[in-house]
Amino acid sequence: MTSQRTRDRLVKRLRDHGIQDERVLSAISHVPRHLCMDEAMSTRAYEDTALPIGEGQTISQPYIVARMTEAVIRDRLPRKVLEVGTGSGYQAAVLAQIVEEVYTVERIKSLYEKAKCLFQRLGYQNIHASYTDGTWGLPDKAPFDAIVVTAACQSVPEALLSQLVLEGQLIAPINHDEDTQILTLITRKGADFEQEQLDWVRFVPFVPGCA
Ligand code: SAH
Repeated sequence: MTSQRTRDRLVKRLRDHGIQDERVLSAISHVPRHLCMDEAMSTRAYEDTALPIGEGQTISQPYIVARMTEAVIRDRLPRKVLEVGTGSGYQAAVLAQIVEEVYTVERIKSLYEKAKCLFQRLGYQNIHASYTDGTWGLPDKAPFDAIVVTAACQSVPEALLSQLVLEGQLIAPINHDEDTQILTLITRKGADFEQEQLDWVRFVPFVPGCA
């Protein structure tokens, strides 16, 4: 269930669904998604679906991880990326295969601790995990070339936008109604922010404050 063949089947499915960037497809084929979840769930790890990871949270669907990653590297390759919502650590691991430095923040301590162990176990020295409220970004490490928000927000916190470099890009699911969001790519252009709407998505909510 966790063999390279199973992973290759997932990559083929993503390709069939329109993911074209070979850097993203290669990252997905390398990251052991089955290690990002509890063993009981791991037989389903290479299905293209979101799955529970405890604490009422989910590991994102591979297609969405691929779509978000593809979007933030489309125009130029960011060097330093902030992810808000570490969760299982899967999105961070996919990013870490492609960019130089990944900072990732999580508000639920048990998930942060599990993900930190995972990054160590997988040998990712370019992922820096913090237990903190992503509402405030990570001012000590700012600015970022790109920011990936993996929880649904009403609107993007100002602090995150202010931590983008010029021409930097942020991607986030922005609430449309009670359970759907629009994946939105925001680019910092001088004092302005340009928005591009990409896909309908469903994420767990962005919650301010640490649990
Ligand atoms: N990127 C994750 C998806 C996790 S689901 C993965 O690949 O598995 C979204 C995560 O965002 C949850 O773990 C949730 O606890 C976290 N989250 C929600 N609001 C947050 C906030 N204000 N700061 C940091 N993390 C937050």
